[in-house]
Amino acid sequence: MQTILNQGVILSDTVIIGSGIAGLAAAYAARLKGHTAAIYEARSRAGGLLDHIVIDGFCFDTAVHLSFASEPEVREVFDRTPYLTHAPVSVNRDGEYWLKHPAQTNMYPLPPEEKVELIAGLIEAESGEIHTYRDWLIQQYGTAIAERWPLRYTRKYWTVDAAKLGTKWVGQRMRKADLREVLHGAFTSETPNQYYVKEMRYPQKGGYKSFIQQMIDDADIRFNKSVVAVDTRGKRVRFSDGTSTAYSSLISTMPLPLLVAAMQDVPEDIAAAAASLFATEMDLISVGFNKPNVSPALWFYIYDENILASRAYSPDLKSPDNVPSGCSALQFEIYWSKERPRNVTIEDMKANTLQAIIEMKLAAPEEILFMHHTHAPYANVVFDTGMEERRDQVRSWVESQGVFPAGRFGEWEYLWSNQSMMSGMKAYERAWRSLE
Ligand SMILES: Cc1cc2nc3c(=O)[nH]c(=O)nc-3n(C[C@H](O)[C@H](O)[C@H](O)COP(=O)(O)OP(=O)(O)OC[C@H]3O[C@@H](n4cnc5c(N)ncnc54)[C@H](O)[C@@H]3O)c2cc1C
Repeated sequence: MQTILNQGVILSDTVIIGSGIAGLAAAYAARLKGHTAAIYEARSRAGGLLDHIVIDGFCFDTAVHLSFASEPEVREVFDRTPYLTHAPVSVNRDGEYWLKHPAQTNMYPLPPEEKVELIAGLIEAESGEIHTYRDWLIQQYGTAIAERWPLRYTRKYWTVDAAKLGTKWVGQRMRKADLREVLHGAFTSETPNQYYVKEMRYPQKGGYKSFIQQMIDDADIRFNKSVVAVDTRGKRVRFSDGTSTAYSSLISTMPLPLLVAAMQDVPEDIAAAAASLFATEMDLISVGFNKPNVSPALWFYIYDENILASRAYSPDLKSPDNVPSGCSALQFEIYWSKERPRNVTIEDMKANTLQAIIEMKLAAPEEILFMHHTHAPYANVVFDTGMEERRDQVRSWVESQGVFPAGRFGEWEYLWSNQSMMSGMKAYERAWRSLE
């Protein structure tokens, strides 16, 4: 139940900041209990990172986005949308070569002398103490393989040297090196797909956002409401348009450092820890082609330093519904952060991407219908060494103030969309229990 009061003050039971999947899931959890919750969203559209753009009949998600959700709560929501199933087939672009993913177990196309150097490095790899992601990579793969692929990729994707990153986030994301697998992939192209999930799902129609459209339709979302201040003593949230709302419980999916900056009486050590957290931002160059089948795979990684993009995916391979008949598309991801601030213009990024398309022999300039730029201010939280401890300290303090953080940037964690959904549902549970 919500009431509009005088002087621009709005009163609502549970207030949720942000209408990405985490905020939507918190509101969904409230509805499942028959409770009310209002979402306040800074933008004029819902979905956060799961939103898309449509250009002349081409639909582009915000970067790759395929679902490998296993949680029953998530499948219950996602599976109501008819979907396509894909094998997770991706490739790597390295100079003139296209290598199946992961590159270290698919070296077949490389010249013999390069394979020998790379494999010798793996055999000679020594184990020792692991302090950083760089140590982990070198001990896993040997120096030659580490320098050829993951160390280069880290600088492009994470915007920092691997020596600055910790290792706790790695989990299953990186395939460990097994000498027999590496040797096998050096002798034959007939290697099994070793991606850490076996099946990926994608809506037949309407882009990835279709998976969450029902949650959007059912939610009470107030758009163009950017939170600028959180008063936990007065239990009130203030927006950039001068209005404010009272809350009984507050769930926040806005980036954790921004939330802390909007709060009052923040202890110095918490303010410093919050200010030290940083994330990558992402420029996306979406390209439409007047011919089919441009992409070599569902998505591909790009190692070459002269190409700004570190990854690209194919909307039409995710679903043919994403492009007009006879056409295809690609979207390129370019990353920056405070450690590598953007030093090029949008036109430079488009020109660089065009050059990459030509170099990779994907299409000729006259086959390109458009190149479109979008920007996402938050992409991946960066796991610089010691980040988790500082992040946990900040999160505990925020919860002690009766604010429940959720989602990728609220929790400040490497969460997939299914995990962000679970995070939102769990945050609602904690928020609700705190009122009992
Ligand atoms: C490059 C990339 C690829 C990915 N690929 C996959 C994939 O293949 N599969 C998968 O499952 N997941 C993938 N993910 C992860 C997935 O996108 C996230 O887990 C999920 O979208 C995060 O949802 P969220 O609600 O936590 O955050 P967001 O989607 O960021 O939502 C937060 C919302 O809060 C709003 N907001 C922010 N500040 C304020 C404020 N001050 N006031 C009001 N509102 C505010 C924002 O506008 C936004 O709408 C990928 C992510 C990235 C970056």
